[in-house]
Amino acid sequence: MKSWVEVSSARLAENFRAIRAVAGSSVETLAVIKADAYGHNAAICAPVLVEAGARWLGVGDVEEGAAVRAVLAHGGVRLLVMGGMEIADAPAIVAHGLTPVVWTVEHVAAMERAGRAAGSRVNVHLEIETGMARQGVAVGADLARVLDRLAKSRWVHCEGVMTHLCCAEVAGAATTKAAKERFAAALEQVSAAGAKPEFVHLGNSSAVDEGSTMAWVRTRAKTAGAKAMVRTGVALYGHCLPVEGAVGALAPRLSPVMEWKTRVIGVREIEAGTTVGYGATFVAVHEMRLALLPVGYADGFRRAASSGVGDGWVMIAGKKAAVVGRVSMSLTVVDVTGMAVSEGDEVVLLGDGVSAEEHAAWSGTIAYDVLCGVRGRFVRV
Ligand SMILES: *Cc1c(COP(=O)(O)O)cnc(C)c1O
Repeated sequence: MKSWVEVSSARLAENFRAIRAVAGSSVETLAVIKADAYGHNAAICAPVLVEAGARWLGVGDVEEGAAVRAVLAHGGVRLLVMGGMEIADAPAIVAHGLTPVVWTVEHVAAMERAGRAAGSRVNVHLEIETGMARQGVAVGADLARVLDRLAKSRWVHCEGVMTHLCCAEVAGAATTKAAKERFAAALEQVSAAGAKPEFVHLGNSSAVDEGSTMAWVRTRAKTAGAKAMVRTGVALYGHCLPVEGAVGALAPRLSPVMEWKTRVIGVREIEAGTTVGYGATFVAVHEMRLALLPVGYADGFRRAASSGVGDGWVMIAGKKAAVVGRVSMSLTVVDVTGMAVSEGDEVVLLGDGVSAEEHAAWSGTIAYDVLCGVRGRFVRV
C-alpha cells in the first residue's frame, strides 16, 4: 500500500456538533460532502454525519448524490445537489430522491417533466445571484420569470431559497452587505409571488465562524416564515479560512479529521556532492541520510513541496524530515540525517506537525485544494 488516509469518525462528528452549537439550534446545518467529502471519502463520512444528526447533506452532482444515497441506510436524509443542474439529469435526480438547486426556467421545466413522468412531486431550492456570477438568478425580471414558471408547476415545489456569499470570511465586507440586500429583495419578491419556501439559506463554514451572518439569516428566515439553514463544508473536516477583521468563534473548536500516512521504502547514505532527484536541483554539501517515500504529486503530495520551492516536510516519529530535491510523480526523498529511521517506518504526510494549511502555504493555495487532492486508501478510524 503506497499511502493511506485515516479518517477520524469521532472528530468528524465532534466538528459537526461544534458547528451546530455555534450556528444556533434554530439553524439547520447542512453538511457539505461534495468532491468526495473534500477528499475525505464520502462513503465513510456521510453515514458518520447522519449518525451525528445531519438531516441534510450537500453533494456536487447527481453521480455523487446517487452514490451517497446508496451507502445511507437512513432513507429520510435529504441530499441537495448544489453544483449546477444539467437538464438531462432531471430524471436521475427524481429517481435517486435528490433535491436540485435550480435557477432557470429551463431547470424548473425539466424538473416538472421528470416529476410528472415519475408521478412524484419534486422539491427544488432556488438559487439567487448576489455577487458570485456563477449560479443563481438575478432579482427582478429574471427572478419573476422563474417564479412564474414555478407557480405554474404542478409537480415542482420551491422548498428553499438560497444564495452563496463570495467573501464570508471577511468581517463587515461591503460585498456581503450588498449580497444580503439583494437576497432580502429576492425573498420579498418570492413572498410577493406567493411562494412559501420552508428553508432560507446562505453562508458556509466561514459565515458560521465570522458569526454576524447567522443572526441575519435567522431573522430573514423568520420573516419569510421559513427555517434558516447554513451549508458548511470545510469546517466539518476541521479547517476554516482565517477570518479577516474578527476572531473566529468556530475555528478554535475544530480538529482535523484526516491523517495521511505512508511508510519508508528505502534508506540510503549519500556523500557530499551527490545530487538528488530530477534536474539535480539539490546537491548535498555534507554527508546525509535520505529516506525514500512511495508517494509523489500523482498522489496529491504537491510538486511545490520540493526543496528550494515550497520547502515542504513530512513527520517521522514526531520529527520533521524535509523534502530533498524535486517531488516526483510517485516518489519523494526526505532528509533523515541523524534520525533513527529504517525501511518500513511510518511517515505522516499530512497530520500532526504538518497541517493542510502548511501544505497549502508550500504551493500558494488553500487547505480546501490540498485536502481534495489527497489520494490513498481510505480507512475509517
Ligand atoms: C462548497 C459549498 C459550501 C460549503 O463551503 P465551505 O466553505 O466549505 O463551508 C456552501 N455552499 C455552497 C453552494 C457550496 O458550493
